[in-house]
Amino acid sequence: MASATTHCADPRLRLRELEEVVGALRRGTVDTLVCEDSDRLLVLREYELERQRERQLAELGAIVEAVPTAVAVVWRNGQIRLANRAFFDVCGPTRPATLWEWASCLQVDIPSSRGLQACFTRSFEDSEPSKPQEVILRPRDGGQLHWVMSFQRLPIQLGGRPAAMVAGNDITYQKHLIDELSDAKLHMEHFLNAAAHDLSAPLITICHNVTFARLELGTAVSDGLAECLGRIEATSKDMLDMLGQVGRVSRFGQDTEPRELHPFRELVDAALRQHQGTLDQRQAVVVVSDRLPELFCQGNKIVQVFANLISNAIKYTPADRTPRVEVGCKEDPGGGHIFFVRDNGIGIPQEHVDEAFELFRRLSSDPAVSGQGVGLTIVKRIIDLHRGRVWVESEPGKGSTFYFTVPQREVDSG
Ligand code: ADP
Repeated sequence: MASATTHCADPRLRLRELEEVVGALRRGTVDTLVCEDSDRLLVLREYELERQRERQLAELGAIVEAVPTAVAVVWRNGQIRLANRAFFDVCGPTRPATLWEWASCLQVDIPSSRGLQACFTRSFEDSEPSKPQEVILRPRDGGQLHWVMSFQRLPIQLGGRPAAMVAGNDITYQKHLIDELSDAKLHMEHFLNAAAHDLSAPLITICHNVTFARLELGTAVSDGLAECLGRIEATSKDMLDMLGQVGRVSRFGQDTEPRELHPFRELVDAALRQHQGTLDQRQAVVVVSDRLPELFCQGNKIVQVFANLISNAIKYTPADRTPRVEVGCKEDPGGGHIFFVRDNGIGIPQEHVDEAFELFRRLSSDPAVSGQGVGLTIVKRIIDLHRGRVWVESEPGKGSTFYFTVPQREVDSG
């Protein structure tokens, strides 16, 4: 390739000459410059810098284009500096110039486009990546798309200005699968409930008939037969009881009440009232955190969660120890709150902590402690229904802490 040398001293020719050299650089016919004039060298250096920025932008554009998710680099004023096809394609033939135009063209619901603006603006203040937001898009050609969007300020300036990366993942298909799964789960719950109910009827008939046979036989019944009838009766009653519990567990997994905001303290107090007698009898020390978050939940069900955990906390504290039950909540590093019920009871060996939530699973071998292995299954059902998490940390001999989360509905803080 040629090398260009500028040497003309006539100032009137400077500009034209420079333009020619710059033109040659743009066309790529010249790539090296030998310049004898420092002023012009400065101008050319600036031009070179600009060209370098354009090259970097083109490279960045190529990377962004290759990313499988929708990505846009947006200046603080909302102007889209760079975006890939996936980001624009949802808008059809329109090419919005700003993020706000993009949002209004898709009637973005986050739940509102104001929410989107707030999330975007906040990304310039936070050093941490923002929490991904579930967003509904309504393209003009119809239908509804579900995206998960995240906003992250770039660590470098782009074109001399601060910019943020806006990324969106289409989760419409996954959403559809989740809906199908929820329907199947609901169907299963109804089936379980119906099966438990229907299977109870023949068992009740067996019990009645055993009672009738006893009456008919009167004193004529031999010891062996009496024992046999007794076993049939006891087993049938156990099965009836278990079927009743299966029905109960399945009902707790169903959406039966509206979700509303409930103060944490009210839910805990309602649960404590259910066990006031036992708490008094055992002279339990109860400590409830004075933090006052509100839970967006099915209130009666969350009361049941606290009630089951409090009941276990007392039940699994040895009789010679004063039960200490602590009910509280703490910040969840992932957002929201973590609720807990802590006791100073017998604890659970580490290898069994997950089994505790299984239906009819009892870990305690103490015959004096009654139970059916259902309480924690119900707790898990209810927390699953709220799309939260439940787990236990325990130290045998010292006590257990049961934790759970209840994700809160997104608040449009924009
Ligand atoms: P149940 O108490 O009727 O047996 P749960 O489903 O409530 O049924 O609990 C399952 C098992 O988990 C219990 O049998 C017990 O072994 C263990 N467990 C539950 N809560 C506690 C606790 N707070 N401390 C120690 N063990 C517990």
